[in-house]
Amino acid sequence: MSDLFDVIVVGAGPGGLAAGLYTARAKLKSVVLEKELPGGQINKTGVIEDYPGFSSIDARELAQKMADHAKEFGAEIRTSDAKSVQKKGDVFEVETSEGVLRSKVVILASGGSPIYLGCKGEMPYQTKGVSYCAICDGALPLFRNKPMVVVGGGDSALEEGLFLTKFASHIYLVHRRGEFRASQILVDRVKANPKMEIVLDSVAEEIGGNDLVEWVKLKNIKTNQVRQVEASGVFIYIGFTPNSDIVKDPLKKDEKGYILTNQNMETTIPGLFAIGDVRQQLTKQITNAVGDGTTAAVAAEKYIHGTLQRSPVGAGLS
Ligand code: NAP
Repeated sequence: MSDLFDVIVVGAGPGGLAAGLYTARAKLKSVVLEKELPGGQINKTGVIEDYPGFSSIDARELAQKMADHAKEFGAEIRTSDAKSVQKKGDVFEVETSEGVLRSKVVILASGGSPIYLGCKGEMPYQTKGVSYCAICDGALPLFRNKPMVVVGGGDSALEEGLFLTKFASHIYLVHRRGEFRASQILVDRVKANPKMEIVLDSVAEEIGGNDLVEWVKLKNIKTNQVRQVEASGVFIYIGFTPNSDIVKDPLKKDEKGYILTNQNMETTIPGLFAIGDVRQQLTKQITNAVGDGTTAAVAAEKYIHGTLQRSPVGAGLS
């Protein structure tokens, strides 16, 4: 039987790393599990401009600083894929790529995964021009000085579209409605960028080419007019699905799968906390995730010592 941890943190994004830092400082026996690189989603971003104290910092550098900081205070960060979380009596069993780990508390910081568009050509051209990560793929030679299509109208689409203007000759920013969901500062930057062409009320209907993507059919859903534009890349940012399925016990979630919590990050399963992008909340910012991680770590310590006052879970968003 494996050792019993006080806390297992699943996911080493900013929230998970903050939780690891605070549990380590509280001298709880804890481990942070991450299947990829510490930093999670922020490794897929370019420059971070809205983390207090840094008016501009490379996302990977920030992630590395957070990981180093947590380690400095004794947090263990393990490369390990957590496949399932289940509570047996008072103990959690986390099935990982390296066997079953056990703990008194689990802090779920597992983030989310991109949503696919579902149009014709999307799947066959994945890795051949269709991408969900501009920072990972945008600088590839196949995209250099070529036109690209970005799909979506939220902060991600506009931010990543602006990032891609460094490499692309032209960007078609395709959004299904007449108004963007993204913040006004990004909308203003997009409008001011001569490489960006805004295509509203439109969807990417089909992606095609030969070995690699060469064109996209854009359909105006108000007029039904279709135009085919030349593009070597299609970057899709239409939201994501929270990675909440690894919890095997019944857990209160919203209709999109986001986990409901109370203000202490407790879920409907005592001892299971959820933080960051996997839980239902208004925004998905690094600052939110870090705050969630801090709260969960402090609450976890109280839970372990039997001093946490439990409050109702899941009032929902107003
Ligand atoms: P989002 O805000 O949910 O936006 C998704 C966009 O995709 C929406 O404009 C939506 O259109 C569109 N969409 C959804 N399904 C579609 C479909 N089937 N076909 C075509 N379009 C579709 O997602 P996000 O941009 O990834 O942002 C997620 C969260 O992260 C947000 O809270 C955002 O503020 C935050 N974020 C913040 C930053 C930052 O502050 N630096 C950067 C990135 C993300 P509708 O508008 O019509 O629904």
